Amino acid sequence: ATYNVTASPVADGTSWGAAVVFEDVTEREQAGQIRRDFVANVSHELKTPLTALLGFIETLRGPAKDDAAARDRFLGIMEKEAERMNRLVRDLLQLSRVESEERMRPDEKVDVSGLLKSTITGLRKLSLDHGNEVELIGAKNEVFVRGDPDQLTQVFTNLIENGIKYGKVGGLVQVRLVKVEREIAFRGPAVHIEVMDDGEGFDPVHIPRLTERFYRVDSHRSREKGGTGLGLAIVKHIVNRHRGRFRIESKPGKGSKFTVILPMT
Ligand code: ADP
Repeated sequence: ATYNVTASPVADGTSWGAAVVFEDVTEREQAGQIRRDFVANVSHELKTPLTALLGFIETLRGPAKDDAAARDRFLGIMEKEAERMNRLVRDLLQLSRVESEERMRPDEKVDVSGLLKSTITGLRKLSLDHGNEVELIGAKNEVFVRGDPDQLTQVFTNLIENGIKYGKVGGLVQVRLVKVEREIAFRGPAVHIEVMDDGEGFDPVHIPRLTERFYRVDSHRSREKGGTGLGLAIVKHIVNRHRGRFRIESKPGKGSKFTVILPMT
C-alpha cells in the first residue's frame, strides 16, 4: 500500500502536538495508472492506422502517381485502415456510454430468446464468410429478463462474432439458452446464455485479464481479424449494468465458452 502522510501541528490549550493523517492512496494511484495506460493504448491504436494512411498518401502523391494498379491496391489498404479507426472510435464511444450508465440498472422487459435469434440472423453473412455455422439451442419459447435490448444485443453480437472469428473454419458455434430455477449468486431464477466455439481456445492464464481494454491473447491475430480489443470489456460492463455475471472457460486446442448469467427478476 502507498500512503499520503500529512502532518499538522495541533494545539489543545495545554500542550502542543502533531496530528498525522495516513491516507491510503493505493487505489487512487492504481486508477490513475489505469487511466494513463488507457490513454497510451488509445493513442497507439489510433496512431498505427494514421501512420499507414499518411504513408500511403505520400506514396500516392509521389512514386505511385502514375501507377494505376498500385493506386488501386493502396486505396484498398487505406480503406481498411480507415475502417479500423472507425470501429475503434465506435467501440470507445460505446464503452464510455456504458460505463457512465453502469449505476442505473435498465428495466425494460426483454425477450432474450428473440434477441438471440435476430442477432444470429444479423451475423449470417459473417459466418458464411468464415465458413462456419451458428446453432441456437433452447430458444423455442420466450425468456424474459429486465434489461436494455440494444445493449444485450451488443453483448450477444460481440460473443457470437468472436466465436465465429476465432472458431475453426467449417466449425460450429453453439449458442445455448438455459433457464436456472435458483442461481446461487442471485438467490433466485436466472438465465444462462452460453456461446461455445470449437476454435483454438487459449491458455486459461489469460482469463482474468481478457475483459481488460485492449488485452489480447494474440495481438496480430486479433488485428488481422479486425478486432479492436474492446469487445469483451464492453460485454463485462453491460453485464455488470444488468447485475449479471460473466464467465470465461477455455481449453487450448479445443475451444472456448463464454457464459452470461442474467437474473430473471
Ligand atoms: P478483439 O476485438 O481483439 O476480438 P475482444 O475484447 O473481443 O477483442 O477479445 C479479447 C481477446 O480475447 C481477443 O483478442 C482474443 O485473443 C481473445 N478471444 C476472445 N474471444 C475468443 C474466442 N472465442 N476464442 C479464442 N480467443 C478469443
